[in-house]
Amino acid sequence: MKCVHVIGAGLAGLAAATALAAKGVRVELHEAAPQAGGRCRSYFDPVLGQTIDNGNHLILSGNRATYGYLRRIGAEHALAGPARARFAFADVRSGERWTIAPNDGPLPWWTLSRKRRVPQTSLRDYAGLLGLLWPGRGKRICEVLRCDGALWERLMRPFLLAALNTEPETASAALAAAVVRETMAKGGQSYRPRIAHPTLAATFVDPALGFLAKKDVQVHFGARLRRILYDGVRATGLDFGERTLTLAEGDGVVLAVPPWVAADLVPELVVPERFRAIVNAHFRVAPPPDAPLMLGVIGGTAEWIFSFPDRVSVTVSGADRIVDRERESLAETLWQDVAAALGLPEALPPWQIVKEKRATFAATPEQDARRPKAETRWRNLALAGDWTATGLPATLEGAVRSGHKAAEIAYSRTR
Ligand SMILES: Cc1cc2nc3c(=O)[nH]c(=O)nc-3n(C[C@H](O)[C@H](O)[C@H](O)COP(=O)(O)OP(=O)(O)OC[C@H]3O[C@@H](n4cnc5c(N)ncnc54)[C@H](O)[C@@H]3O)c2cc1C
Repeated sequence: MKCVHVIGAGLAGLAAATALAAKGVRVELHEAAPQAGGRCRSYFDPVLGQTIDNGNHLILSGNRATYGYLRRIGAEHALAGPARARFAFADVRSGERWTIAPNDGPLPWWTLSRKRRVPQTSLRDYAGLLGLLWPGRGKRICEVLRCDGALWERLMRPFLLAALNTEPETASAALAAAVVRETMAKGGQSYRPRIAHPTLAATFVDPALGFLAKKDVQVHFGARLRRILYDGVRATGLDFGERTLTLAEGDGVVLAVPPWVAADLVPELVVPERFRAIVNAHFRVAPPPDAPLMLGVIGGTAEWIFSFPDRVSVTVSGADRIVDRERESLAETLWQDVAAALGLPEALPPWQIVKEKRATFAATPEQDARRPKAETRWRNLALAGDWTATGLPATLEGAVRSGHKAAEIAYSRTR
């Protein structure tokens, strides 16, 4: 029977492998690291004595591909979040607090209510957001949207920075629009916040490995692909160093590795070459009982605070400005914001800082233009990864969609 070799067990690779296995295709999954998950992983941290995630991952209820993936692997229940779209914010400079409370349907009548919208905003500010929906190609966000004022500072900037992991002032309007069209513009039912519960691995990774085991998919860890052999029209072999696999006629390959690795393996491939960092801080402390699952921070270094039963975690996106700072100093700065926002003591609890320097490609128009399609000129080789041309920024939703797309291509070509 023909086999599809999926290279890379991040979310794109896992989505591709599970989609193919669900269709009865023979699959082998090869991962360089000793564990699956890639940039969406959990591990035991000896300093905290806890299992933590490399970074908090937010998804939204409108992320339909991600939901499809979770349904397939039986993990849809492993998400936590409020029944309605609710986003709590705290300004750590002024002490002001507010919660935005969008209504479920697509007509945004919540913006009529002062109690439900962002303080110091007017209906006119929200009408201005329409410019972002269909911005045209190559534009930056601030060419189509007012990038100042209360609505920008207190909602749109934090939301877009989190979604794009790139300073919104320089980021692609088209990528921002794609996110907004599929979530905010469809009404509260499509942007209920959801986070993995209790860990990323328990939601996105372990159930996928369980699903693959049931489908008799072989998963090889510590298997770093070093070279792909080609003839004029197809990939003919996979060189893993200690062993080389010969691909039979009809076998397929889904390459779901980071862009810089793909560029080494695939001749003449153009890929994004600029990246943005994310810094996460994890504090071993019980949050106050009334702490929201997720709190947006305005006016601090911390941007989002996530409260878990046994820890509080902070995310800073587009974090290149702080990523090279000493870890101790980062922990202290971020804890000050947490203490102020959640009303916790100022003494620093046990902490861990996780820096991901190449967390995502920079979501600028220039980098977006460098993203390749899933199809390649080799008929049995398809690309996957959040950096391929999904039309979305580098997110789980983009990674999963790319995996599904590559799986479709591989499926149609191995039959
Ligand atoms: C800290 C952080 C926070 C984030 N927050 C969010 C969020 O809130 N919401 C959201 O939607 N997204 C978020 N993201 C983005 C999200 O994690 C990524 O979009 C997604 O995980 C990318 O998956 P991927 O499979 O495309 O790539 P990767 O996860 O990078 O997977 C690639 C895999 O290929 C493997 N590999 C590399 N080289 C080889 C080789 N030669 N042979 C075999 N295997 C190889 C790697 O080990 C890795 O497992 C965040 C990312 C980070 C880092």
